[in-house]
Amino acid sequence: MNRLFEIKELDKKVYEEELRDFLPEKIIDIHTHSWLDEFMGVDEEEEKRAVTWTSLVAKDNSIEDLFETYRLMFPDKEVTPLIFSFPNLQLDLASGNQYCSHATQSHHCHALLVSVPEWSAAEYRSKLLAGNFVGGKVYLNYAPRSIAQNDIGIFDFIPHHQLSVLDELGAILMLHIPRAARLKDSDNIREMLEIADKYPHIRVIIAHIGRAYCNEDLGNALELLQAAKSFYYDFSANTNAYVMSELLKAVGAKRVLFGSDLPILRMRMRRICENGHYVNLVPPGLYGDVSGDKNMREVSPEEGEGMTFFMYEELLAFKQAASQLALTKDDINDVFYGNADRLLQEVDTGLRGLRS
Ligand SMILES: [Zn+2]
Repeated sequence: MNRLFEIKELDKKVYEEELRDFLPEKIIDIHTHSWLDEFMGVDEEEEKRAVTWTSLVAKDNSIEDLFETYRLMFPDKEVTPLIFSFPNLQLDLASGNQYCSHATQSHHCHALLVSVPEWSAAEYRSKLLAGNFVGGKVYLNYAPRSIAQNDIGIFDFIPHHQLSVLDELGAILMLHIPRAARLKDSDNIREMLEIADKYPHIRVIIAHIGRAYCNEDLGNALELLQAAKSFYYDFSANTNAYVMSELLKAVGAKRVLFGSDLPILRMRMRRICENGHYVNLVPPGLYGDVSGDKNMREVSPEEGEGMTFFMYEELLAFKQAASQLALTKDDINDVFYGNADRLLQEVDTGLRGLRS
């Protein structure tokens, strides 16, 4: 076993028989987290003592581990990532951002700045430029504590004055949308359309296809979002072939991007939907006690033996969608490489003159 995670015969078989020839030689992973465990706070003792299943998948993901993961999972491909820190309230924000910024100097990768809404426009702009970032990653956990989880709107964690900065810079916004109804939520859709309308130069990437993990999460969102002609969608941490094919039908192959959401994608699992809610089925014992998590469920040891990586499950789902729609080799190359490569080059070119 290598020092990161076990690779079984089953995993090799899935890769060699299903994925190797399907995937292009060069891949850009547009959605990856990289951070070190030492950036996590030590003050909240109780939190630290409780071993959660996510930390059993990976307690951190150094830039070296990330590249090693690609080498292990895609032995004959060249994968480069767009990285950002782990948006967790216990993680020291400045250390996480600085780590990703430094990684862009030492490794072949790009990075996004994880931000809090309290930063002024000037602060946000100077942090983006000084750190060599190509845009921002925002997360609902950074919305003011006074707002209840289900009431958090997009502008609570990426306020208008910061959107104006991204628009002026023509930078990327990696947007993980809030709210329990996910992509189909009418408030989410209204706010997304407002961003497309008011800030046409932001390169918006809707993460995880707007968290539409089950068929029921789509509603008529893709139809309404047609108006947001510049949006990209990454299918990171999504294993739903139907959702992927509906997305491809709605926006075409030029606005769909491969993303992983590593390191969580190292997990062994298979995802099902029950009454519109997703459940990650996992091998027994592998991720500690998951009984308290309604999105996790253990299966029998026999069934667990047949489980491969979340990463491969995501890719198998995309392959299924691609074959249903008869995507060409060029389309597939665009989704895994070309679209992201053009996007990053355009953003980089626009920012180059401003950084010095
Ligand atoms: Zn993520």
